[in-house]
Amino acid sequence: MINNHVSQNELYKTPRLYVDADFALGGAVRLEAGQNHYLRNVLRKREGDALRVFNGRDGEWLARVLTLGKKAGELELEGCLRSQPDPAAAPKVHLYFSPIKKQRMDVMIEKAVELGVSDLRPVIMHRSVMRNINEERMRAQIIEAAEQCERMDIPALEPARQMDEVIAGLSQPLFACIERDGAALPLAECEFGDNVAFLVGPEGGFEEREIAQLQACGNVIPVSLGGNILRAETAAIACLVAFANLKSVVV
Ligand code: SAM
Repeated sequence: MINNHVSQNELYKTPRLYVDADFALGGAVRLEAGQNHYLRNVLRKREGDALRVFNGRDGEWLARVLTLGKKAGELELEGCLRSQPDPAAAPKVHLYFSPIKKQRMDVMIEKAVELGVSDLRPVIMHRSVMRNINEERMRAQIIEAAEQCERMDIPALEPARQMDEVIAGLSQPLFACIERDGAALPLAECEFGDNVAFLVGPEGGFEEREIAQLQACGNVIPVSLGGNILRAETAAIACLVAFANLKSVVV
């Protein structure tokens, strides 16, 4: 670790960027065009200014702006600030979700990243109003949320799949949030292993056939989030908070 000449107090104010490149002491890493524009024109950064960078593999490093031209820029890596946590040591939590309307989808994605989700798995269900995922936009949202909340990794975004496929391919317990199901297990009584998944339905809820499919699957645990009918994004947040608290995924 470096005793950087940027005080701790200053450090957390420096911008934090995800840079998908290998890090080495004294090495230089190239900025993507969007990052270049953001640093140069939005944050008005100049050569010599400090930044924090992470790549999800080599920890978080202190970097300095080497060049920041109109189209391209480079950073010089000054030293490691935080080592990369061991990915195998962290419990895994997967979020299967029906795409929902844009603004609410944005909230679900951002909060899931902040709450430590391991990966995001869109599922097209019978009542899914939104049936196409803008993967590029969603990946950019995921990265921005990870940069902001100081996560050391970037949760994966899996390709959208049909519900039948998801159920057929289940390899871990799936806690399926099923509203209005009197037999569902209250979230507070769920016991989580170290590799679990949650499923949240669309604005219109699950079709009867989907509920029967879920209830018939051995790996599926129907879960109740209480008597109130929550928005899908609220349901996802409730599950991830319950898991994070039990497993201290978000420290
Ligand atoms: N239109 C549905 C209805 O009125 O029954 C509500 C769907 S809700 C807006 C979206 C999703 O959030 C549901 O499919 C379910 O996955 C989850 N959810 C919301 N409230 C819940 C609750 N009380 N228990 C379990 N899951 C819930």
